[in-house]
Amino acid sequence: MKITQVQSHILQYDLPEELGYSQQYYAKRTAHLVEVSTDEGITGWGECFGPGPIAIANKGIVEGVIAPMIIGLDPMDRDVIWHKVYNLMRDHGQKGMPMQSLSGVDIALWDIAGKIMGQPIYNLLGGAHRTSVPAYGYGMMLKRESLADHLARFKDEAARILDHGFVATKMKTGLGPEADVQLCAAVAKGVEGKGRFMVDANHCYTTSDAFYVGRALDEMGAYWFEEPVAPEDLDGYRELRAGLKTNISGGEAEFGRWGWRGILENRGLDIAQPEVCALGGITEYQRVLALCHAHFTPVINHVWGSAVAVAANLHLLAAMPPMPGGLHPWEPMLEFDTTHNSFRDDLLTEPLDILGQVQQNAGHVMIPQKPGLGVEPDTDMIAEYKVA
Ligand code: CA
Repeated sequence: MKITQVQSHILQYDLPEELGYSQQYYAKRTAHLVEVSTDEGITGWGECFGPGPIAIANKGIVEGVIAPMIIGLDPMDRDVIWHKVYNLMRDHGQKGMPMQSLSGVDIALWDIAGKIMGQPIYNLLGGAHRTSVPAYGYGMMLKRESLADHLARFKDEAARILDHGFVATKMKTGLGPEADVQLCAAVAKGVEGKGRFMVDANHCYTTSDAFYVGRALDEMGAYWFEEPVAPEDLDGYRELRAGLKTNISGGEAEFGRWGWRGILENRGLDIAQPEVCALGGITEYQRVLALCHAHFTPVINHVWGSAVAVAANLHLLAAMPPMPGGLHPWEPMLEFDTTHNSFRDDLLTEPLDILGQVQQNAGHVMIPQKPGLGVEPDTDMIAEYKVA
């Protein structure tokens, strides 16, 4: 079998309302799907992390740089292809957009491999340690509204997400340390007696501001404090982890085994959050997972994007070994963005219906069982929303 074509599909629509996090407001939903075709009619799907103009630029890397390197190769040679592409792009970027682009292609090759072998991806990875995974719902985005409006909305939204059935919920911060502590207190109030909450700063703090917010979180019993400082600030991560009770999490903006080696050796994370659609695909995720577990750092994948990304993560979460194991072992969770996302909810010919599953199954989501990713995007929907 040979690879005959590698295509990027950039899908986009206007969100019903503008949403924000600590770095920016945004009003469009984007997804970057990768379709790899073969000479025997089998097609694989992958996804690249990166919204808006980043996706447009990544399409240029996928179709202009990576495709010519791999057309004519055997799609089963996933690791060979990974290293050929990485080695040829190395001088031009060992992190960031080249790796995001390679990720989408690699995931599509795993989808093809599963379809060739008639097996779901989790079986290619060694089998399922679990048949379902608990999901946490994130929401509580920033808006252009007053602090008082934020406080009321965050409290209600946190309660609503847990009432829906999610096992935990996650909020954004980014209005400034003092206002952020008030936001966290509102969410702590909203989840009282219902479940856990986590806090995602999207690396907006200095180390001292992160300590200010983190000490308040220690009192409120937050489960984790995500990306408190910039991903490059390994010393900040280590100091925060040593100085706070709340778990420090991060890693969605790190790439490849060499980037992850630095974070882990520096002992800055209680919980690692690798992003399979950015760090180098499923092939490299498996190496990053092994590195995390070699450092006894538990993993809860970062999940963002369309139903293709969600499906890929469900396979990875199924195949993730317990660490360290036990009668009632520590379990990973599926990250689920509760804000409007048609590319996750309506993209597939047979939708995953995560919201329905969470509601009906005590917060748990089943692992897809069909070969490869086990999901098929609706090509009519792709044609309707494709902007590049
Ligand atoms: Ca995050």
